[in-house]
Amino acid sequence: MSLGKLRRKLARHLGLRKEGLDDRADEVRELAKRAIAVAAAPVSPADAMATMLAGLGEEDTAAKQLVYLVTISRVLPETLAATDLVDVSGFSRATIAEYVRHAFNEPAVTSAGGRPRTRDGIVKKTVVVRELHASGEIHFHVAVVLHSARTFLPVKRSLRGTYKLATHWSTSHTQWWSALRYCIFPSVTKPEVDEEPFQWASDGKEFDLHAESQRPWTATMWKRRREAAEQSAAATGGASKRTRFAKLDLTAHILDKGLKSRADVLKYSQDHGNESMQNFVHNHQRQLKDFIQDAEEWGNARAEAKADRETDWDLVCRTAASDCPHGLSCSYRKAAEMLFGVNAATLSKENLAASLRAVILTGPSKTTRTPLIIGPTNTGKTTLILPFDNLFGSRRVFHKPALGSKFALRNIMKEKRFLLWDDYRPVDYGQETIEVPTFLSLFNGMPFEVQVSQSFNDGNIDFEWRRGAVLTAKEKDLWKPYGVVSDEDITHIQGRVEVFRCTAKVPTLKDTVPCPCCMCHWILDGAQAFDAKQALNALAPSRMAPFEFELLSLGAVHVGEVSAAEWQSLQSWAVLRQFEQRRLLAALR
Ligand SMILES: [Zn+2]
Ligand SMILES: [Zn+2]
Repeated sequence: MSLGKLRRKLARHLGLRKEGLDDRADEVRELAKRAIAVAAAPVSPADAMATMLAGLGEEDTAAKQLVYLVTISRVLPETLAATDLVDVSGFSRATIAEYVRHAFNEPAVTSAGGRPRTRDGIVKKTVVVRELHASGEIHFHVAVVLHSARTFLPVKRSLRGTYKLATHWSTSHTQWWSALRYCIFPSVTKPEVDEEPFQWASDGKEFDLHAESQRPWTATMWKRRREAAEQSAAATGGASKRTRFAKLDLTAHILDKGLKSRADVLKYSQDHGNESMQNFVHNHQRQLKDFIQDAEEWGNARAEAKADRETDWDLVCRTAASDCPHGLSCSYRKAAEMLFGVNAATLSKENLAASLRAVILTGPSKTTRTPLIIGPTNTGKTTLILPFDNLFGSRRVFHKPALGSKFALRNIMKEKRFLLWDDYRPVDYGQETIEVPTFLSLFNGMPFEVQVSQSFNDGNIDFEWRRGAVLTAKEKDLWKPYGVVSDEDITHIQGRVEVFRCTAKVPTLKDTVPCPCCMCHWILDGAQAFDAKQALNALAPSRMAPFEFELLSLGAVHVGEVSAAEWQSLQSWAVLRQFEQRRLLAALR
């Protein structure tokens, strides 16, 4: 504690103002001297150890955690003599790390029934630091993070039994960053830290101790810290730096309270904000829209960084494998089934699925055309593809620009993952909004010019679209030329899309809840069925008929379920000529 702080506290305690202390300066000086003497009094190693362990918190043997902070002390000479414990003062950090790891992998089996030995390593990462007490006693702290949560008692027993080490297990650090921080960051009670911490990770990679010991940002925590700082500033009568309201504080409020609009923010700060928040919000009233957007980006950053490491098609496959949250009553699944059912004559689910897969995998190109679903209204064509918004996040889907918009394609450059133009009319848009050459380049995977405001690059930026896309359109008059769009233009446009036709209406579409899970399911399923059909088409129908018969008799629903090895074990296989076998195997691959 600083002398200034002591004086303030003392003044408050005595009911005087700070200046009041000056009259009694001698008394204060004497008190301060005594307080400092008490704080600096020599303590025995046992007391020092006891104080440290008390600071680490009690061991909760019922705890089952991912993270532990283990402390291993040099045992006092008298204890050492009376027990079989070893003296750790000569141990290296690496040895300690190894013992702890082994103890996790081979915990003590007790008569009460311990945990069986595990083959794979349980410890994911560990850091060992070696410290000296003020009294010169050596001790180790071990921060451990595991692959899955465990109780610690069997490990503690193993360390005691096999390695003759007495350990203290702190269960108050439940987060890796926090246990690690205890080891490598100096604090008031621990001003000196180990300069050569030992680290070990199960993947063999070195990790950044400093970066991993930072508290991850959360809106609630940030807000709470701010409030605490404010209260303590009020208590001491001064304004601390932390109490000045800043943009990150506003971000914390926006995310924590789910504020969506400027009005939300204004109302919240008037009703619940303190003076400095109100001041900040009022001073930046015109920027609030940007601040809300920034907060949203800040809040989504972790999820988006993770999403960006996954390819779009991987996301489709992963989503297809998850369980539909709506279960059997999923309205989207029912609508999609009905749509494919009533349109079976004109619309192939397998072909549409394969077309979507192709464009999601590579983006549009000379060889990959963009699916365009056409039909009258109420056929469910929009309903069918709407879950792409949920799948990629609406913000990352490039939607159809407004007709007549001057900078129609500007937003395509804003980190979009998918292009979804619902009810797109290429001839109308071709007049001026998205001219035919631009359309052709975009849906050919070629560079095209995006018009932006004059302040950037003379108003033009080259861009290429390399991700998934799907279009829908009303069929009536869709390909009727007028204005600057000619018959020939229309032929070129048609060459860039693969048309899928719906003709029959699906009733009760109104209440359909978009379900990305069920959408990905039919896409993945349909694309696999498409592949299987391709395999069947590899040979003349007369040659394939025996296979279909044999497979059906074996209970296979479609050929996609059958592996190459299984094909070769079928009786019909032997009947094929050598080149037929080869062709079929190639198609199965
Ligand atoms: Zn320590
Ligand atoms: Zn569903």
